[in-house]
Amino acid sequence: MISKIKKKIKSFIKYFKPDIKMTADIHLLQPNRRLIGKKIIITGGARGLGYAMAKKFTEEGATVLIAGRNEETLKNASKEIGCKYLVFDVSEFSKTHAFVNSADKILNGANVLINNAGISLHESSIFEVSEEQYDKQFDTNLKGCYFLSQKFLERYLQENRRDGSILFLSSERGQHVDDVPYGLIKAAINSLTQGLAKMLIRSNIRINAIAPGITATDMTGRSSENLFAERYSTGRYYLPEEVAEVACFLISDAAGCLSGQILVCNNGKSLNYRKS
Ligand code: NAD
Repeated sequence: MISKIKKKIKSFIKYFKPDIKMTADIHLLQPNRRLIGKKIIITGGARGLGYAMAKKFTEEGATVLIAGRNEETLKNASKEIGCKYLVFDVSEFSKTHAFVNSADKILNGANVLINNAGISLHESSIFEVSEEQYDKQFDTNLKGCYFLSQKFLERYLQENRRDGSILFLSSERGQHVDDVPYGLIKAAINSLTQGLAKMLIRSNIRINAIAPGITATDMTGRSSENLFAERYSTGRYYLPEEVAEVACFLISDAAGCLSGQILVCNNGKSLNYRKS
């Protein structure tokens, strides 16, 4: 009886509020070999944004190595993309040095690092955060890419390489004040991006970040099939492929005068508009 009533209510709601479906009309630049000569490490590259970037960069002529925790997933993704892979958990700090050495050997001199691996435990306020959740997110999302960048830079500078770059995956969340680990970390990533850029201004290595809005990946549980977002002020979610396009520009030589930049990919949602 109850389930019958529930069904009736559902169809009644549907009648007044039909499902709205929205797809993005995105325009990708045709692959143009923009990344020839780039030898790129992407952490967390087997899924989501990392996968989209690995695919795009490979199509643009780069040699790409994806890294992550699960060998089977990495193997499948690398086969689909046509790139290399290495098993590496960014929160296993004692293995970072060895990972950079191996990746560098496989790529025959890596010159781009994409700090993409990340997790979100989606707490809504400080009262929902346990010490374990706090540590897990800080270890993966901040400490992991901090020490990976350190080891990558040490090698890069030691060997006097040129035209390198590091790209951090920040988030629109880093544009705001926050009280939960994910947002705090992304704000710290922004500071690190600009701090390193300034420190390395004469070293032929550029440091930038992209800060996507809500993107259709496993992390958000949003599907690429329907990007409609009623309660999100942009009106839609984003596709990993359109974010990858911006990332591709930032690591390409066409962006040779850009360092310390955080490109926020959300149609201006984070701007603080003048109120009367
Ligand atoms: P995702 O969950 O789809 O993919 C994350 C990838 O990181 C997975 O392959 C996962 O296995 C890997 N990973 C997680 N922990 C790892 C670890 N310890 N070592 C190695 N790999 C690890 O998420 P996504 O949406 O593609 O997120 C990628 C990055 O983009 C993250 O840094 C995230 O914070 C950022 N971002 C995502 C969104 C979004 O809306 N999806 C928005 C802004 C920023």
